[in-house]
Amino acid sequence: MKCDVAVIGSGPAGMAASESASLAGASVCLIEREERMGGVLKQCVHDGFGLFRFGEKLTGPEYAWRYAQKVRALPVDFMGSTYLKTVKKRETSFLLELVNSTHGVFSLEARTLVTAMGCRERTDRQIFLHGERPAGVFTAGQAQHFINIRGLMPGRRCVILGSGDIGLIMARRLTLEGAEVEGVYEVGERCSGLPRNVAQCLEDYDIPLHLRSTVRTIHGRERVEAVTVAQLDEEGHPLNGTERRIECDALILSVGLIPENDLLAPLEPEMDPVTRGPVVDQWGQTSVPGLFSCGNALQVYDLVDHVSESGHRAGKAAALLAEQSLATRAPRIPIHAQDFASYIVPQLLQCPSSEMVSMAFRPKTPIEKASLRIVQDGQDLVCQTLHWLRPAEMQNLPLDLSQANPQGPGLEFHLEQVMP
Ligand SMILES: Cc1cc2nc3c(=O)[nH]c(=O)nc-3n(C[C@H](O)[C@H](O)[C@H](O)COP(=O)(O)OP(=O)(O)OC[C@H]3O[C@@H](n4cnc5c(N)ncnc54)[C@H](O)[C@@H]3O)c2cc1C
Repeated sequence: MKCDVAVIGSGPAGMAASESASLAGASVCLIEREERMGGVLKQCVHDGFGLFRFGEKLTGPEYAWRYAQKVRALPVDFMGSTYLKTVKKRETSFLLELVNSTHGVFSLEARTLVTAMGCRERTDRQIFLHGERPAGVFTAGQAQHFINIRGLMPGRRCVILGSGDIGLIMARRLTLEGAEVEGVYEVGERCSGLPRNVAQCLEDYDIPLHLRSTVRTIHGRERVEAVTVAQLDEEGHPLNGTERRIECDALILSVGLIPENDLLAPLEPEMDPVTRGPVVDQWGQTSVPGLFSCGNALQVYDLVDHVSESGHRAGKAAALLAEQSLATRAPRIPIHAQDFASYIVPQLLQCPSSEMVSMAFRPKTPIEKASLRIVQDGQDLVCQTLHWLRPAEMQNLPLDLSQANPQGPGLEFHLEQVMP
């Protein structure tokens, strides 16, 4: 089997990439290990999705359904229940090894490849919790899947460890379904989820958020019976005398997401140690020519509208490259995050860049008033003032970098605090 563009993953990023690649004239295969399109959105039954893209407040399944309809109206070859096993780079194409129950193991050759495989959740093994391994320890996404897709309650009295957005959303969901959520425990000094989720999911339901606190031990052999929590000092060590045993039957973990890129390892794309996604240019093209990345596989987004936007860009560029109308070897200059910017995506700028470049970043700490400057060789290309930046909220700004000199040195992305 052959196609111009293969897209792996049919979440919002993969659906948008397939749509834009197909509209640009490419033959597209969309590969998805689940039966239906939609990715994680299928289990996000609350609303708040699509305000930018559709100008409406939609639920996750509604947002997914709208995109799936757009993809189905196009000649995109959707292969559901099909798993990507391996990928190899050939001189001018990629060879994918796929498996499904109709064809068994089979191959697909694609001129360009868009990876949109989302991310996976960190588990208890990755945060070294003490105790046995009883039933009743779930990641927030698993708990969401149990309640919203399978109609099963993961527990009746729950403790949540970590204050990521999915954990906050699950605190509310569990409460609405009749469970008691004893509290949310966060190691850091700040909540890692969005302020609106703290207000709507915790404060509205009187669920306490304990900062600088953690779960030290899980008790129970067959099933979780209790956990011991403790407060932490500034270095993260448990404070003597603050340990407390809480009777519960479920511990829900919301302790971080990891972009899903393990299958790309044989292709050796350059990776960003902060985002844990590939290093890309403004089109989502990685250091491997013809390999594109978008959505949560590229960086963990907080708004699905931006996920779709990144898929849209990558799909269109992959289609243009497949028909050779996008230069593979156009000069690319690096962009370096400085000062209070913890990272920047894209990390490379393909020149010339006549279109606005959508740049995503997060500050390292909360900043009331910030100056953003993009500098090349001592000259300011962009200079803006921003207000109320928080690490939990990704900034996604369209910036004009058309003045960047392709022969010049790399760009410095400065985010500085301005004293009021
Ligand atoms: C568990 C979880 C719960 C979330 N809940 C919320 C929420 O309640 N509210 C909210 O605003 N945001 C939520 N998010 C954020 C949300 O994931 C993103 O906004 C968005 O769904 C990311 O889209 P994506 O297309 O990048 O990835 P996904 O939606 O994760 O889609 C990735 C797709 O790739 C497929 N795939 C992966 N590997 C392979 C392979 N090898 N072969 C074939 N197919 C593959 C997967 O099956 C999946 O369908 C949640 C994220 C996670 C991980």
